[in-house]
Amino acid sequence: MTNVIEKARELLRRKSVAITVGIMALAVVLAAVSVPFFVSDKVDEIAYSEFSRELGEGKVSRIQVQDGGLTVWTGDQSAFVRLPSSMLTAQIIDRATASGAQVDFKKSGIDPSHAASFVISLIMVVAVLALVAVQVDFKPTNRWPRTVRNIPDRFDGVAGQEEAKAELQEVISFLRDGQAFENVGARIPRGVLMVGPPGTGKTLIAKALAGEAGVSFIAVSGSDFSAPLIGIAKGRVSKLFEQARRKAPCLIFIDEIDAIGRKRGGGGSAADREFESTLNQLLVEMDGFNTSSGVIVIGATNRVDVLDPALLRPGRFDRQVHIGLPDITGREAILAVHARNVKLAGGVDLASIARGTPGFSGADLGNLLNEAAIFAAREGVAEIDREHLEAARNKIIMGLERRSLAITSEERRLVAVHEAGHALCACLTPGSDKVHSATIIPHGQALGLVMRLPENDRYCIPVEKLEADLIVAMGGRAAEEVVFGPRKVTTGAASDIAHATNIATRMVTEWGMSPAIGMMKVARSGESFPREVEQEIRRIIEEMYAAAKTCIEDNREALDRLVAALLENETIDGDEVRRIVALSERRLAA
Ligand code: ADP
Ligand code: ZN
Repeated sequence: MTNVIEKARELLRRKSVAITVGIMALAVVLAAVSVPFFVSDKVDEIAYSEFSRELGEGKVSRIQVQDGGLTVWTGDQSAFVRLPSSMLTAQIIDRATASGAQVDFKKSGIDPSHAASFVISLIMVVAVLALVAVQVDFKPTNRWPRTVRNIPDRFDGVAGQEEAKAELQEVISFLRDGQAFENVGARIPRGVLMVGPPGTGKTLIAKALAGEAGVSFIAVSGSDFSAPLIGIAKGRVSKLFEQARRKAPCLIFIDEIDAIGRKRGGGGSAADREFESTLNQLLVEMDGFNTSSGVIVIGATNRVDVLDPALLRPGRFDRQVHIGLPDITGREAILAVHARNVKLAGGVDLASIARGTPGFSGADLGNLLNEAAIFAAREGVAEIDREHLEAARNKIIMGLERRSLAITSEERRLVAVHEAGHALCACLTPGSDKVHSATIIPHGQALGLVMRLPENDRYCIPVEKLEADLIVAMGGRAAEEVVFGPRKVTTGAASDIAHATNIATRMVTEWGMSPAIGMMKVARSGESFPREVEQEIRRIIEEMYAAAKTCIEDNREALDRLVAALLENETIDGDEVRRIVALSERRLAA
């Protein structure tokens, strides 16, 4: 990551130098161009009365009519006379002709000598611009992409992210000993996508992967492939892979791969075509290297959904490793890794800092220790104590709030109640999929999440299952209402409501599951369904909401335990959810 930033900075620095030089050259050229315009027209001006007198005395030998006035020759001197109206001009032309002066008209616009200098300077401007572009574009490619050998990073420098590390073990063994895999005919990955929010250690993991495997590491960023000149970006893709093949075995890391791999829009503009040809080149290169060439590409992105599907096909980036924000234990581990580089006072409890930093990424945590060290240094003390850490945490949270990531403790409790409601209903409603995990760590747009795993793929879904899904969907809002009261429910259920409405609508209008409507497909007329249909949809959702509420009221103790567990651990797995719910049930029975 730091490498990438450095490179970007360097590029920018160079770019700005080039641009400044370009602009200066442009200014000089423009000034040179405009000089003749000003200079040649800068002649003496005389008053109309004087001119009129001289004309009357027959001293004027020639007049040249032009916009806004005349140039007048008396003897070998010329002067300009300002004339406000064309009527006056017409009279003067008559008088001048009568007095025997030569009369002619200045061609409007630029005279030929000026036009020539204009064209010449235009050519110069274009030349300068081209020069600037060349500066910006070709220079960095001399050292781009940079290959690093003997990467010192190892997996033990990456705290937490155990699942990701386990998934990547195979890639390590392949890079170490590709031939063995090849010999037994195993299909070897060429591309792996690491998906997750910024600062979660994707770059760090990729580097450590190269370090563990002992192969060369080439890091580039998707933004390296946005070049202003046609064909450059495509050329860089080829250059990247050519270098990788030369340095094999090696690992290519493409940060922000969405910048080069987003969906092709098929737009007709030059930029669209340029973008598509760059992406196509990437696809061609990925297909081109066979697995024995010892090159693996790792792409990092926060958004798989914007990637072109062609990138995700088998043989390209066909594996995804998810890198999420760390949970409380992950955060503690990350703090411990970074604490190796600073001096902590005895008695500083990293676990309690981890508890106080929900929503922090690994980068934020590294930053926290760094800020705390700065606070301590400012005070002139040698060790970081609790207060420095607190101050650093608050400073970073302020930044996070601007990013609207960190949530207040009140909101945290609210999210915990909401998610506990979903989890409880999922546990206790027959026909629901099993809970896999529940979390109050933000995921994408959602502030929390209860994940359920279907036992097997379902193609025919029974009413019972649909109703269970509806009860689970309503469980979040129902818990909010039961715990905080009807006046305190929040906007947090918007996507649950959308999901439930969608299911209920299809039950009524497509799947013939409403006795009142019967087995009939109903189409919308305009925006809405017929009134009876809308009523049925509402009835179903309301009944399921009531069921969810009853479930929560009847198992309030279990709900409260789930809330407490979520607040404590942030993520609890399905077994833990079931254990907590069963515990309370047994108590009820006793
Ligand atoms: P990403 O590529 O996902 O944006 P980086 O790999 O650049 O994130 O992480 C930025 C920094 O955050 C790293 O250099 C490291 O200091 C710290 N960091 C992030 N995740 C971890 C982790 N799991 N363990 C240790 N440090 C981490
Ligand atoms: Zn919800």
